Amino acid sequence: MSTYVYDFAEGGRDMVGLLGNKGANLAEMTRMGLPVPPGFTVTTEACRVFLASGEPPTELRDQIRDHLAVLERGAGRRLGQADDPLLVSVRSGASVSMPGMMETVLDVGLNDYSVLGLGKTHERERFAWDSYRRLVQMYGTTVMGVDGSLFEASLTGVKEQHHAPDDSTLDVPDLIRITESFKDLILERTGRAFPQDPAEQLWGAVLAVFASWNGERARLYRRRERIADDLGTAVTVQRMVFGNLGPDSGSGVAFTRDPATGRPGVYGDYLPSAQGEDVVSGVRNTVPLQELATLDPTSFTQLHEHMAALETHYRDLCDIEFTIEGGRLWMLQTRVGKRTAQAAFGIASQLADEGVITIRQALGRVDGAGLAQLMFPRFDTTGTDTVIARGIPASPGAAVGAVVFDSAEAVRRAGAGEKVVLVRNETTADDLPGMVAAQAVLTSHGGKTSHAAVVARGMGKVCVCGAEGVVVDGRTRCFTAGRLTVPEGTVVSVDGSRGLVLRGAVPMVDSELVHYFDRGGRLPDDPAAQEAVLPVHRILQEADAARRLEVRANADTPQDAARARRFGAQGIGLCRTEHMFLGDRRPLVEAMILAEGAADRDAALGALLPLQRADFTGILKAMDGLPVTIRLLDPPLHEFLPDRTELAVRTARQEALGAAPDPRDTALLAAVNRMHEENPMLGLRGVRLGLVVPGLVAMQVRAVAEAVVTRSRAGGDPRAEIMVPLVDTVEELRLVKQEVDRVLTAVSTETGVALECPVGTMIELPRAALTAGRIAEEARFFSFGTNDLTQTTWGFSRDDVEAAFFSAYLDKGVFPVSPFETIDREGVGRLVRIAVAEGRAARPGLQIGVCGEHGGDPSSVHFFHDVGLDYVSCSPFRVPVARLEAGRAALETSGREAVDHAGGRAVPAGRVR
Ligand code: PEP
Ligand code: MG
Repeated sequence: MSTYVYDFAEGGRDMVGLLGNKGANLAEMTRMGLPVPPGFTVTTEACRVFLASGEPPTELRDQIRDHLAVLERGAGRRLGQADDPLLVSVRSGASVSMPGMMETVLDVGLNDYSVLGLGKTHERERFAWDSYRRLVQMYGTTVMGVDGSLFEASLTGVKEQHHAPDDSTLDVPDLIRITESFKDLILERTGRAFPQDPAEQLWGAVLAVFASWNGERARLYRRRERIADDLGTAVTVQRMVFGNLGPDSGSGVAFTRDPATGRPGVYGDYLPSAQGEDVVSGVRNTVPLQELATLDPTSFTQLHEHMAALETHYRDLCDIEFTIEGGRLWMLQTRVGKRTAQAAFGIASQLADEGVITIRQALGRVDGAGLAQLMFPRFDTTGTDTVIARGIPASPGAAVGAVVFDSAEAVRRAGAGEKVVLVRNETTADDLPGMVAAQAVLTSHGGKTSHAAVVARGMGKVCVCGAEGVVVDGRTRCFTAGRLTVPEGTVVSVDGSRGLVLRGAVPMVDSELVHYFDRGGRLPDDPAAQEAVLPVHRILQEADAARRLEVRANADTPQDAARARRFGAQGIGLCRTEHMFLGDRRPLVEAMILAEGAADRDAALGALLPLQRADFTGILKAMDGLPVTIRLLDPPLHEFLPDRTELAVRTARQEALGAAPDPRDTALLAAVNRMHEENPMLGLRGVRLGLVVPGLVAMQVRAVAEAVVTRSRAGGDPRAEIMVPLVDTVEELRLVKQEVDRVLTAVSTETGVALECPVGTMIELPRAALTAGRIAEEARFFSFGTNDLTQTTWGFSRDDVEAAFFSAYLDKGVFPVSPFETIDREGVGRLVRIAVAEGRAARPGLQIGVCGEHGGDPSSVHFFHDVGLDYVSCSPFRVPVARLEAGRAALETSGREAVDHAGGRAVPAGRVR
């Protein structure tokens, strides 16, 4: 026979999967000898049977009855007995935290008789009837399914009749009347009476808690938090204790350390003469926990001792709920407490200092998302700021500036010392100077991998995109958001961590950590700054020691490269060369595209060559001694030409005025029309460009080779690698490689400097992944371009879908997180696995990395570690996050190995990964 019910004394915290967090921790406290009101827990397994079959396990009812009998014997009272009733609470408790998402029924055991026993003394009469009417109401809605608003309406009716402004002014006759009317309502609506049998009440409450696992709120929450749907909830049944019996009673919450800052001490709130629910709901003002020392010194001292015992036992910050009933302290709940990112680092490192945990264990207590949060300035908000628009939080941080609507204006104003926010419907390569000049970028279209988002994240710039309520009118130079019109020059605050645009200049707090990273990881002298930075410093050092994955950066300027290096990057995994073709170099690119003959084209390429060489020389210098993976030009060439509509309008206008259009405009328009593509992301780009535009690859490779020669002659240690984008078949790579080798040999012969530049490829198309074994014959290294690989595997246009319908997809649970944000392990991940295995089988020792956005995403870093990549590459700002997560991933692997060696099985954590 299966065991579906455990007494608190039989469980322990290692039984979280079966008893839920609450049940397991109550059991643990009971075993530690702390004063816990006795009770028992119905397992998640019983719930799973109920959810799967619609019926509880057959033996459950008897098991509950037996455990109730034990509880009654211990209390010396029967559940709901008429003179002095035992009452119980029935609460949900899953193995993962789902605060307030499921149901609770309190005061089970009250009926028409026991209410009299509970209220036998005059002072308790009101309390007893109030408890009874609450039970009938809670039971009626939760267990019997009556619409809660009907109870509210009935209650309001009585209050109005008796001129009672709120619940607390209702007297005993009022409460009796209300209870009766609630019972009538239940009978009328369900055809069944409110059960007077306490055992029946208990059974109904347990089943209702089971059923609440699939309530709408709970389902939605699980989807958002990526909690598996089949875990089920446990149910704890516990003797009620009352904090609302008078001045020597009360309820409170306590933390063993400050959950906001991590500082040691006793933190919490206390509410005299109140039940726990009143503390949490905030209906009455609490007093600081320290005041309990004066109000009830004995209970305070005991609480203090219990808290110390719990922290030592759990080796972590504990969060506690307690009640004092008539001067007697009861511990109602404990769990390892939630905390801010700053506190997470602070507490983990303090506990390591105190010898409670090792510094390696401290690494397991923090995460990259927390570190990222600490790296961005944040608003010091009061919560009263006016939100004028909402969008997708695409690049975190906080920024304030005057709104501008085009790149040129952004550059002009920023040049004059003004802080600006660039607002566009969407951004293109043309907006780059404006993005550099702006503090933040706001777009009304596009998702987390739109141009705006990717570029902003790369620069560590705040970005909110896809703010659909924002309509930009470039003509009147304003944007509207709902009924609000915001003219150019208006100051707004952009919160990239929450995806909000706020009115006016909200004050900001700077990140001490970014200064620390910018100093190359040197600690600040100022003690206050040091307190904030030291825990991160120590834990990150540990991560670096533990990790197997290298961390490189995506960077394409010497400045970014230098910064990435200071942030701990071990090279550049992706240097996108397209950004070097913009700005004042654009006319040269246009000339190359418009060239009518080989001579014209060679002249244009020849003019670009020294500029590219200088770019590469600077980057190789900044990354001296470390690998720099330079990618050949990737985007379609028409991205470097003026906008098609703009050109058409300009030439048409000139024609309409009777003037001959500017011949350059006519030529450009013809070129734009010729190159126009319906699906440019699937068109003439990547390696395809290199194969059809004569001279382009040769120019770029020559620039790289000559930069290497320059750096070598200057005594440097340049380590350039050449990467070919968007390869589909090995033939493409073979052809480009022949060209690369030809140029490298030529430069080597010309200069007398031996050149060793490995040539590799991006794997960013499904075909490339599936034929990786063939491709590896020609490639010295692979780098997964997971942005394009996700786009082409799913058939999702990366620039469009996130804003267009991803929110609906997320709501409907099609996927729990955007596959552009966190790698889709099942689909895209499978391609990655295949390519790694087949690539390495063909070429043992093949270097493999990833340079898509996923390279800096915490969860994805764990995947890349697991599949055996050599490195991840991400924007400079995410380098510390990737370092930390790579360390954590290594730790997890060694933990798994330890479990495997011990012959055990890792318990599923309950999270969908
Ligand atoms: C990718 O596709 O993942 C990649 C890194 O290339 P890009 O984003 O420049 O297309
Ligand atoms: Mg790509």
